[in-house]
Amino acid sequence: MRIGSSLGAQLGNMNYAWMCPIPLERSLARHPGLFGMFAVGGDSMLFVNKYGRRVVNEKLQYNELAQEFFRWDSTAAEYPNLVMIAAWDQRTQDHSAGTEFSVLVPPPGADDSHVIHGSTLAELTDRLRQRLAKYRPETGGVELARDFTDQLTATITRFTRLAENGVDVDFHRGEKPLQLMLTVPWRSRRADPTPTMHPISNTGPYYAALVTGGTLDTKGGPTTRPTTNTDGQILDDTDTPIPGLYGVGNCVASVSAQAYWAGGATLGPILAFAYRAAHTADRECAAVSATFASRSVVTTQPERTISMPGTLEVRVRLRRTTLVAVRSR
Ligand SMILES: Cc1cc2nc3c(=O)[nH]c(=O)nc-3n(C[C@H](O)[C@H](O)[C@H](O)COP(=O)(O)OP(=O)(O)OC[C@H]3O[C@@H](n4cnc5c(N)ncnc54)[C@H](O)[C@@H]3O)c2cc1C
Repeated sequence: MRIGSSLGAQLGNMNYAWMCPIPLERSLARHPGLFGMFAVGGDSMLFVNKYGRRVVNEKLQYNELAQEFFRWDSTAAEYPNLVMIAAWDQRTQDHSAGTEFSVLVPPPGADDSHVIHGSTLAELTDRLRQRLAKYRPETGGVELARDFTDQLTATITRFTRLAENGVDVDFHRGEKPLQLMLTVPWRSRRADPTPTMHPISNTGPYYAALVTGGTLDTKGGPTTRPTTNTDGQILDDTDTPIPGLYGVGNCVASVSAQAYWAGGATLGPILAFAYRAAHTADRECAAVSATFASRSVVTTQPERTISMPGTLEVRVRLRRTTLVAVRSR
């Protein structure tokens, strides 16, 4: 950012990040076992907001799912989904628990400090209220609606009907192959035509965890535009490549903007464009060297030094606005 900004780079995606649902309590506790929920497992499970309402397809790719936590309700002037409740029954507890990275449901004996238990939905609600009260300062006072238990009961009834019919007409859960790939174990995929949904038991015990959105990587930065320039060159505000300045990966604005296309959406473009950028930089460097060898350069601006604390120093000499030499040490 400092190098790009000082050379007039156009910035993009500065309000986006690569995001992922995370268990709220582990995050706030700075728990060493904090994990990103890359795949939300379980079929008899759902997410509800503080009103007890389902608001999202729980099997969406993690970056898309995480964006729902930050949806602004301009009528109510609030973020109604900032903290959501992942709730599941004994079936999901038995079938989808695991200690693998990213699994929310812990098996018996594992650390379940982020799990809230209730033998009935009313008891689960009471315990959720107590747990949320602990985090009021961090959540901005998120608390459950007064009629949360009734709403949750109605939401579970609706979800169960959708699961029995085999189609999630509300949020299209499990309709895309990617959702099956990410969230359903292989062994369940062939046997069950709707492997992401199963009726939720109308008797306890019930389990829940508070979940919110977390950040994995940055998504904003100096702009490259692979649709028009495939060499990883950074563009200025007039869409002109800044000579000598290249970028790939998380230090530049992701071409995917808000989206996560699928696994490899970050590393794939990095590999491809780093290869092309390196070749172009090499050619550009050779051209600059040839210019230096053939004539002296008159500079009208002093050399500028951009320092990255303790790590990297790039010295940039500008002639009008054209970069003529970059040296690193
Ligand atoms: C848990 C997790 C799982 C992921 N899984 C996948 C996946 O399955 N598929 C996929 O495509 N992508 C995945 N990603 C994303 C992918 O790992 C990143 O997008 C990718 O590593 C970014 O590469 P990068 O080189 O741009 O940045 P980084 O890998 O972050 O490299 C930047 C480097 O710069 C160094 N650095 C920072 N500041 C300075 C400084 N001032 N001076 C010198 N060096 C500095 C850092 O130490 C680091 O080594 C995952 C990310 C996470 C966090």
